[in-house]
Amino acid sequence: MSHAKIDILRPGFLFSLKISFPWIILKMINMRGTLQQLSSKSLHRPLRSCIGCGIKTDKRALLRLVLSPKGHLMFDPRQNQPGRGAYICKRPACLQEAISHRRFPRVFHSSIAQTDYSTLLEQFVDARLQSIRHIRPSLRLALITQLLEDHFGRPPWQGCENPLDTLILTVLSQNTNDRNRDQAFARLRQRYPQWQQVLEAETADIAEAIRPAGLANQKSVRIRDILHWVHLTYGTFNLDFLCREDPEKVKQTFLQLKGIGIKTISVVLMICCGADIFPVDTHIHRISHRLGLIDDKTSAEKAHVILQPFVPKSKAYSLHMNLLKLGRTICKARKPQCPQCPIQAFCPSCEVS
Ligand code: SF4
Repeated sequence: MSHAKIDILRPGFLFSLKISFPWIILKMINMRGTLQQLSSKSLHRPLRSCIGCGIKTDKRALLRLVLSPKGHLMFDPRQNQPGRGAYICKRPACLQEAISHRRFPRVFHSSIAQTDYSTLLEQFVDARLQSIRHIRPSLRLALITQLLEDHFGRPPWQGCENPLDTLILTVLSQNTNDRNRDQAFARLRQRYPQWQQVLEAETADIAEAIRPAGLANQKSVRIRDILHWVHLTYGTFNLDFLCREDPEKVKQTFLQLKGIGIKTISVVLMICCGADIFPVDTHIHRISHRLGLIDDKTSAEKAHVILQPFVPKSKAYSLHMNLLKLGRTICKARKPQCPQCPIQAFCPSCEVS
C-alpha cells in the first residue's frame, strides 16, 4: 500500500488546497473583527439630541415625535413611524421647554396646532411607559448595564481570599445589613480563627459570637451543619477547587444544604470564581421590580431564574455590583431619588410628574 506524503512546506501547497494568501488575510481580518465584536464591552449606541435640553444620548433613552400624515404632532413610542422625527428626554420639563421655545415648528418646517401640544402633555406619561415597555428585557438590561458603567464605572473583579469564608459571610448576611454581617463575621473569626474550632464549639457560643447578624440561634446551627458537611464531603475547609468545577453542578450540590439558597451559592460562584452568574439580593430584587423586569409577586429566588437569561454575557458581576451601588445610594427602599438616577429613562416606576 502506498502512502501519499503531505509536505506542507512544499511551495504551492496552499494553492493545492485551493487556499490563497489573500483568502487567508481576508479570513484573519474577518476573525479579528468578530473577536473585537465579541470582546466589545460597549453596545452600539445610536445617538440623538433632545430638542428640549440639548443633551445627546442613546435614542432609545429618548422619546420620538413625528408629524402624522394629517400634519398633527404625535408621539412615536416604538420609534418606527416613517418620516422625520424629533427626539426628546423622557422628562416633562423637556417637552415644556421645546413647546415654549417653538422648537417643533422649526424641526418639522410646519406650524403646530396648540391642541396638539395639549394632547402631547396629556399623553406624555403613557407614551413614556410604552416606549420603555416595548424594549425587550434583554436589550433593556444591556442598556442599563452600559448606563450604570458610564455612571459608576466598570467594577474590577477581584476574586476572594477564601470561598468558604465568603459562603459563611453570605449565610450571615441573610435578613440583615452589611454592617451587622461584617461585625458578626469578625467576632466569629476572632473567637474561632480555625473553622475546625467552630465545628467543635457549642452552638450557644457560636450564636453569641454572631449575635449582631440577627437570627443567631438559627444561623449558628446552620453554619455548624454546613462546616460539618463540607469537612465530611471534601475532607478539607479549603474550597478553592470549586472554581474549577462546573458552576451549575456546584450550585445544585450546595442547594441541597439547609441555609444555602440560590443567592448564597451564586454570590460565592460570582465573587470567588468569576462565574457569569447573577445573584439577586434584596436591593436587586427591589430594583428589578421597579424596572418592571419582575412583578410584585416574584420572589427573590424565582427572580434568579427569570433575570439570568436577560443579563448581558460576561456582565453579571458588573451589573450586580453597580445595581447594589444604585440600591444603596439612589434607588433606596424608602425614597428612591429618581431625578438623580442614571437609568431613569428605562424605568417605568420613575417619578416624572
Ligand atoms: S428611576 Fe427611580 S425607581 Fe427607577 S431605578 Fe431609578 S431611582 Fe429606582
